Amino acid sequence: MRITHDRGHRPRPAPIVIGRGPAAPEPGRVQVRPTDQPPEGATSPDARPRLSFAVPAARGKAPRHLADLDLRGRKAALKEAGLPAFRADQLSRHYFTRFTRDAADMTDLPAGLRDQLSAELLPDLIHKVRVLRADQGRTMKHLWELHDGVRVESVLMRYKDRTTLCVSSQAGCGMACPFCATGQMGLTRNLSAAEIVEQVRHAAQASAAGTLTDGPARLSNVVFMGMGEPMINYKNVVAALHRLIDPSPEGFGLSARAITVSTVGLVPLIRKLATEGMPVTLAVSLHAPDDELRDELIPVNSKWKVGELLDAAYDYFRATGRRVSIEYALIKDMNDHAWRAQRLADELCSRGRGWAHVNPIPLNPTPGSIWTCSEPDVQDLFVDTLRRAGITTTVRDTRGSDIEGACGQLATEVLHQERART
Ligand code: SF4
Repeated sequence: MRITHDRGHRPRPAPIVIGRGPAAPEPGRVQVRPTDQPPEGATSPDARPRLSFAVPAARGKAPRHLADLDLRGRKAALKEAGLPAFRADQLSRHYFTRFTRDAADMTDLPAGLRDQLSAELLPDLIHKVRVLRADQGRTMKHLWELHDGVRVESVLMRYKDRTTLCVSSQAGCGMACPFCATGQMGLTRNLSAAEIVEQVRHAAQASAAGTLTDGPARLSNVVFMGMGEPMINYKNVVAALHRLIDPSPEGFGLSARAITVSTVGLVPLIRKLATEGMPVTLAVSLHAPDDELRDELIPVNSKWKVGELLDAAYDYFRATGRRVSIEYALIKDMNDHAWRAQRLADELCSRGRGWAHVNPIPLNPTPGSIWTCSEPDVQDLFVDTLRRAGITTTVRDTRGSDIEGACGQLATEVLHQERART
């Protein structure tokens, strides 16, 4: 879900002067459009984003795992396999509190049963393909391979006051955002709940073991902003959320407030999430306050417009009490105009005060691409405009930018390297 950028091999298109655009253009400002260059990662110059909601036919399900099931389901699964159901508690404690799936670590289980129990409920689901570090060892990016060879990424980030993991919920993505490398892969498949939870367990284990700079830390936050649109994989994402939030031995016992689910705007599923009784934070990847630009920048906007999306986000806030994050990648001359900041402020304020927090995200500067960062004075004006309207606004830190930090970049890069070798 994080914004990526062009790799810099294409010439910069001539900017188009505003004139055909929406009302209130700024004199002297240009309007670069998402359609001015092929999408990120496109293999032909005339490629265009193709929105897809269809999940491809099953490629063979991931093996059943303890983290797919609630405690009752785990007990039933052991019983079915002719194993003592009460052992599900012990297995779950090892998994969710000691972050292990290794039978040899489970010394409180009878030696003769350990391998059998573990084989039944703790199959090996994800393998490390590559690990990259950045930010003086405070950021680690993992590329994982799943049972059927598909690859996904997660990013672990240590901050002063928290340790956050960004997880993937799908392999590839069908939302086709033209700035995003994952979007150009198309959707390969949904991840099972356990494949999502395994990314979290590995991160919790690595944090506790002191793998990140500054020593051992507790994994405190999880954001669903990696590969994929979480709402398309709704059922498995909700099951994974339960495993993250439920107290041990059901789950990791993380605070719901420390978990963020990000979406480009699947309105009916935002409304459904509001009824689940899990007050996780909702992040809306808005990136444009006007339908004219957002239709091109976020193709799903052709189905649910900005107004409907913000109505659903506001209702989410009212149902859960959780302030909504509005994610806004600032892209030079595309969406960073002061009138757009004002339009965004008006849209938010017209629904109420204090219900949304805007996170402008500066892109990494990439010469020759239309996906590049705003000038500092333009970014400052954008932020000031929002703040003057009374909207809490925090410019987001962009971690891991030197390690193919945005979603889909590492997977794409490794694939290119492997193809080059064969
Ligand atoms: S919704 Fe999909 S295509 Fe759009 S930014 Fe997120 S991962 Fe990329």
